[in-house]
Parts: sequence; C-alpha cells; structure tokens
Amino acid sequence: MPAVIPAIVATSSTDPLVLGTVERRDVGPADVRIDIRWAGVCHSDIHTVQGDWGPQPFPLTVGHEIVGTVAEVGSDVTRFAVGDRVGVGCLVNSCGECANCRAGEEQHCLEGAVGTYAATDVDGTITQGGYATSIVVTEDFVLRVPDAIPYEKAAPLLCAGITTYSPLRHWKAGPGTRVAVIGLGGLGHLAVKIAHAMGAEVTVLSRSLAKKDDALALGADRCFATEDAETFRTLRGSFDLIINSVSAPIDIDAHLKLLALNGTLVNVGAPAEPMPVRAGTLISGRRSFAGSNIGGIAETQEMLDFCAEHGIAPEVEITSADRINEAWARVLASDVRYRFVIDIETLRD
Ligand code: NAP
Ligand code: ZN
Repeated sequence: MPAVIPAIVATSSTDPLVLGTVERRDVGPADVRIDIRWAGVCHSDIHTVQGDWGPQPFPLTVGHEIVGTVAEVGSDVTRFAVGDRVGVGCLVNSCGECANCRAGEEQHCLEGAVGTYAATDVDGTITQGGYATSIVVTEDFVLRVPDAIPYEKAAPLLCAGITTYSPLRHWKAGPGTRVAVIGLGGLGHLAVKIAHAMGAEVTVLSRSLAKKDDALALGADRCFATEDAETFRTLRGSFDLIINSVSAPIDIDAHLKLLALNGTLVNVGAPAEPMPVRAGTLISGRRSFAGSNIGGIAETQEMLDFCAEHGIAPEVEITSADRINEAWARVLASDVRYRFVIDIETLRD
C-alpha cells in the first residue's frame, strides 16, 4: 500500500502551489525511505512548473535538493542504516548498464535518467520530488551528507553544488585558471565558493554591482556589472572558463568574447529561449561553447566530501511550507541571498 504523505503541490502551470499530499511506494528490497528535513528551492523547480521546458504531469510535487535521515531500509540495502544523514539530488534512477551509466555519468544515461520529479520511473509511476515529508529512493541514488556540513545548509549542494562543481572539475579550474561566473544566484554563489576553493581566480559578472560586497565575501577576486557596456571592453579575452548560471537568455555572443585563447563558456543556466551565437565568435580565439548537466552520483559524493573538507556551505534563507509562493516570487525577482531552503518540519505541523 503506497503511503500518502504531506507535500507542497503544483496543480497547474499558473496556479499558486498548495499544501496537499503525494504517494510514496512501499520500501522495496533495494530502497531507502528518507524522512526529509530540509528541501532546497532550485530555479529549475520554477521553470518546470511554469512550463518553460514543456507540459508537465500535474498534480506535481517538485524539489530535487533533499536532505534528511534514513527512516527505513530494504532487505538488500548494505550502505545505509536507519538514522544516517543522507541526501537525494536530481536523479533517482537510471539503467545502470549503458556506457554512460558504467562511466558514472548516470545523468547522461542512454536510456534516459529518471529525474527526481515529473519523470516516469522504471515502475511506470511519475516521480514526485522533495517538497514533502519523505521519499523512497533506490540505495544507489542516495548520497551521504558529511557531518561537517551544517544540516540546514546541505540541501542546495545536491543540485546547485554538483551542477557547478562538475564543470569546474571537468574544465580543470584550479591555480592559474581565470574563471568567471555569470549570475550570482543559487548556482552562481556556489560556483564562486567552489572555484575559489579549487584555487582559481574568480570574477563575478552580475547585472549590477548591488551584490559586489557579497561576491567578494563569497571568495570572488573581482565583480563587474554586465549592464555596463564598458565591462565587455575591459574584460575582452580575459577568462579560461566562464560558467553561465543565468536562468534567462543573455547576449551569449558578447560573453563569449570575454574568453581567452582556447577558453570555454559552459552554460548551466537553462532558459526556455534559444541564445544565438556567431560562428566567427567561436572561430576567433578557438573558443568553445559548452553545456553541463548536474553530475553523476559518484561525483556528487565527491563534491559533498570536497565541500566538507573545504568548509563550503551555501548561504541559505530558511522558509516555511506556507510561504513557498512568496519564496518562488523572490527567486524570480533574484531577491534571495542565495538559496531558499524549506524547513520540512513546517509541513508536518
Ligand atoms: P537563481 O537563483 O534564480 O539565479 C539566477 C541568477 O541569474 C540571478 O541571481 C541573477 O543574477 C541572474 N539573472 C536572473 N534573471 C536574469 C536576467 N533576466 N538577465 C540576466 N541575469 C539574470 O537560479 P538558480 O537556481 O541558480 O538556477 C539558474 C539556472 O540554472 C536556471 O535556469 C536553472 O534551471 C538552471 N539549472 C541548470 C542545471 C543543470 O544541470 N544544467 C541544474 C540546476 C539549475 P544577478 O542578480 O547576479 O545578475
Ligand atoms: Zn536544481
């Protein structure tokens, strides 16, 4: 018998979120049931519900930055025990057998990775995310959350953390590399902290200088305003790696010109609209324009351990279940410093 549990529910792409319920499957032999304690608010939750990426299966509970404690384990589970502090990110299943899964890149599963919400799971049910009091996940997609990471701050690492860590690692950010981060939001602020911890020189490209003091406090060396045309002249040819974390379309061609010879601009922001690029901009300076999708499970654990070791935690604002619509409006207005985390106890009242 599936359990019916409290959750925050989207009923359509336009109506406010409401307090309701979702179903969770019984714990199977390979499953872990997690009592959720904290759930991060990712801009992807909003894109999804608003229909930016296509029609969705409503009613839907979103949320893929999930932290809590293990409440129950299946008979075949070996790596987790009741009481463990754990996390779940954007993935809850994949085929496990294709070349990409075997390479630890489950997010690029050739059969289609199963997202934490709004995806069709292997049993045919629609997955429901972490704005809820519990979740049942196969053990292979559960992460360990180190004790060194404050409990209420850990959740955003499960999406925003890995989404920025993975391209910084892949494109080898480190001492001697010049990294720029476009957009100082949930992803952007973690990109700054992680790139700084990796030893890179970090520049923030925000629309205005309103967040400059924050950017420097987060570990950036410099901050420039993209609304100032002079920025694009001053910084032309300056960066080895640029991470674009902006949730809306920007003039990507202008930003590509900020790359040095052989530099790469990695888009992690996922606006609905296309962003035109001139061939000449890429040809000149042998520039690359790339994308990156979250990270695999092993790399997500590596990121959590890296953050614990380097004392990295997101800057969070705690909110309650009944204020979720206000929180979403503030994310849309870029008025959050720098990630909302829902106190899931407020769903249990
Ligand atoms: P967020 O907290 O809302 O941050 C986005 C930032 O972009 C804002 O803080 C703002 O920075 C800037 N921005 C917003 N609107 C803008 C506009 N119209 N023009 C220029 N800049 C603007 O969002 P997030 O949760 O970090 O997510 C960012 C994007 O990454 C979303 O599209 C999300 O879906 C995507 N995402 C992708 C992956 C992946 O695997 N690739 C994973 C997670 C999220 P400033 O105020 O500093 O200008
Ligand atoms: Zn996300």
